[in-house]
Amino acid sequence: MPQSGLNGPFLLNRETIDSTVTTTPGVYALGYVEVGGDFIPKYVGRSDDDINQSLKDWVSSKYSKFKFECYGSAEAAFTKECRLYHDWKEQLDNQEHPKRLDTRWKCPCCELCESTNQK
Ligand SMILES: [Zn+2]
Repeated sequence: MPQSGLNGPFLLNRETIDSTVTTTPGVYALGYVEVGGDFIPKYVGRSDDDINQSLKDWVSSKYSKFKFECYGSAEAAFTKECRLYHDWKEQLDNQEHPKRLDTRWKCPCCELCESTNQK
């Protein structure tokens, strides 16, 4: 598996989120930890303004652990989210490609054109 470059894994609960995650744009991976200690990512997401709050939405979900990385802008977070999505696509629960806020943003891994940017 490619190196994610993310911090963690951490336990997915409110206390841990508040003590480790800032309120900035960021990218996160949700999943679980295998016997032996390897983090298995199952979902990739991002927040355009507050990753701390976004992660809290996942507390008590089927995912028990998270990894994350904070970014200075939503666009930088989007770029990282795309890389993780493409690296892990085969094993993720994500059904769709990461969404852009701005049509000028480019996925670094595929030809993301307007026609594929639904919703
Ligand atoms: Zn892509």
